[in-house]
Amino acid sequence: MIRIYVELDNNVPRYACTNCSTCDSLIGKSLCKVKNRGCCWYFPKFTLLDIQRMSKTPDGLKALNRIISNPSTQIYNYYIHAKGFFDESGYKRYMDSGMLIEGDYLEDHTVFFRSCPFVKSGKGCTLPPRFRTFVCNFFLCKEVSEVAKSHELFERYEKERLRYSRWLDWENESLKYHLSQKNITLQENFAEVIKELQDLELSQYEFPYLEPIILDDSWSRGA
Ligand code: SF4
Ligand code: SF4
Repeated sequence: MIRIYVELDNNVPRYACTNCSTCDSLIGKSLCKVKNRGCCWYFPKFTLLDIQRMSKTPDGLKALNRIISNPSTQIYNYYIHAKGFFDESGYKRYMDSGMLIEGDYLEDHTVFFRSCPFVKSGKGCTLPPRFRTFVCNFFLCKEVSEVAKSHELFERYEKERLRYSRWLDWENESLKYHLSQKNITLQENFAEVIKELQDLELSQYEFPYLEPIILDDSWSRGA
């Protein structure tokens, strides 16, 4: 049985899926040293709103400190990109071998050789959901989405995700505008920006209650 449901962490929503703990989806495959990391090969980009959420509490500031202390993290004017592990030589050997993994939607084979700096093999993400990015909180792989599509509620899930992402875009644009008016950026004035974000009121989004999607065992991939 697969269950997809909405979870709130300090009013920050995410779509959780019970299939992720035993992920066997194509893009969850790892050919690098970090095994069992699902699709956490992603290198998260933390937006201004993500950073503002972190700026408001001591545990948020701790998370932010972890993010900026990661050696491959890059701070841009209005976002932070936390890059992780990439087994470049393994990737090169794999590409030269000519024995590429096949998948109709697979365009980027680096995914098999990457790992987010915050994932722990077999355990998952070490950042609390309330400080994760939108992509981290709402991504559902093709395999899961294909199966879930058969459920009448899935369209509503997709609509609500889109609505929420538009709200996030709007909020991030507003924060960016505010900072640009003050002529400060994360790259040049990090501490000042954090102080400014702390002082600004944190906008809230009321994510609607959605019934869980429950898919019984009759589903099977590739059938
Ligand atoms: S969303 Fe898909 S690829 Fe990612 S962990 Fe879950 S099952 Fe695996
Ligand atoms: S921040 Fe967490 S959820 Fe996002 S890719 Fe990294 S480990 Fe996965």
